[in-house]
Amino acid sequence: MRRYIITAFSILFSVSLIAQNHKVKEDSIKIRQFYNAALVKGQAYKWLDHLSNSIGGRLSGSLNAQRAVEFTKAELEDLGLDKVWLQPVMVPKWTRGAREHAYIQTGPGMTTEVNITALGGSVATSPGGLKARVLEVNGIEDLENYKADIKGKIVFYNRPMKPELIQTFEAYGGCVDQRYSGAEAAAKYGAVGVIVRSLSHKIDEYPHTGSMSYGDLPNDKRIPAAAISTKDAEYLSGILKLKKDLEFYYKLSSENHGEVQSYNVIGEITGSEFPEEFIVVGGHLDSWDLGDGSHDDGAGVVQSMEVLRLFKETGYKPKRSIRVVLFMNEENGLRGGNKYAEIAHSKNENHIFALESDAGGFTPRGFSFEADDAQFAQIESWKPLFKPYLIHYFERGGSGADIGPLKKGDIVLAGLRPDSQRYFDHHHAATDTFEHVNKRELELGAATMTSLIYLVDKYGMRHIDLETDKKL
Ligand SMILES: [Zn+2]
Repeated sequence: MRRYIITAFSILFSVSLIAQNHKVKEDSIKIRQFYNAALVKGQAYKWLDHLSNSIGGRLSGSLNAQRAVEFTKAELEDLGLDKVWLQPVMVPKWTRGAREHAYIQTGPGMTTEVNITALGGSVATSPGGLKARVLEVNGIEDLENYKADIKGKIVFYNRPMKPELIQTFEAYGGCVDQRYSGAEAAAKYGAVGVIVRSLSHKIDEYPHTGSMSYGDLPNDKRIPAAAISTKDAEYLSGILKLKKDLEFYYKLSSENHGEVQSYNVIGEITGSEFPEEFIVVGGHLDSWDLGDGSHDDGAGVVQSMEVLRLFKETGYKPKRSIRVVLFMNEENGLRGGNKYAEIAHSKNENHIFALESDAGGFTPRGFSFEADDAQFAQIESWKPLFKPYLIHYFERGGSGADIGPLKKGDIVLAGLRPDSQRYFDHHHAATDTFEHVNKRELELGAATMTSLIYLVDKYGMRHIDLETDKKL
């Protein structure tokens, strides 16, 4: 009798193993199809060409941002999705105005030009510009050490990104407060302006812009904020050691115009079995204005559109509803991400998974996930399917700014993680342009995203019931 039971068990085990193997095979064939379709006749690069070269930089509230809304909506409509719509959202409008101008003055008539860019959200200098002595600090915490010396000066934040960090986003994270909150902090000590070393590893002439905030500073206390190139930051720091009383001049003509109407662009393939379960894939449609926003985040936009196109092209009919969401205003307000989540939550839509691509169009390495133990174990079980494509990075960590507000209940959030070593050479600078995106790298990213969305759609997401601590 015992033998029969053992035999019965082993037959059952073998049957389930065969079924399991069959599924793995089916999945690996499907994933191969996605990569083939993306690499042989992908659309992502063509879309990016239009977004970057025919439209260009897409600052929130600009005409180019509106053109990008119209272009991507029309392209999604051409894919024959079940629904395509615009989701209205109010966004801040900030304009740079006339080109910035800056120089270092070491004596009467002795000036050296500096490459400078206003930070997004900065007020202008007076029409004649601002000239003052400079105080260099190593980050916001350093202000306290010089507090008696700051009044009437321009604070120069010069903490560099740490080159030894392999994860370049960590190096960025260690410095970005200088750009974002540096003006607010320095104004409280009586500074008249701030200049920030550009957030880039590369020593070159290109200044990198990015968002900044005055927090709750009243209007009359707001001081103009700008970034200078890393090369100029090194030069200024060096010359300050020799000549402490040098003066720095800069002129900004930027302006805040309040809020204007804009849109998130959304397309959906409605699920065949579980239409009430939603999976989101997206990037942000807005960009800075110095380059054409190809890496940040044109790449994420076209890769996300490509996910739905690849499903269509390979004849995959999702069980769950798959939405591509092209978010507006990630760079200087996150209004699009907040609006999408607000509406999803108010309608009680059941979002089970969201994936964002917003780390450049470079060679994909994998993903990072915000997931519980059971969810992450399930995701890790898919890792071997990605091995042939050299995708190996499956870690827990942050996902993407635009999908962050969706966090509620059991949803899993994920971010595509491309190679990040060159990202900050281009990030928010005039060099974030189409020619710096490699076609194959972009396409590999799109196929990698499609494969993950396919697996989530096919198997759903497990989670732990917090009441009973059981896997569901
Ligand atoms: Zn971005």
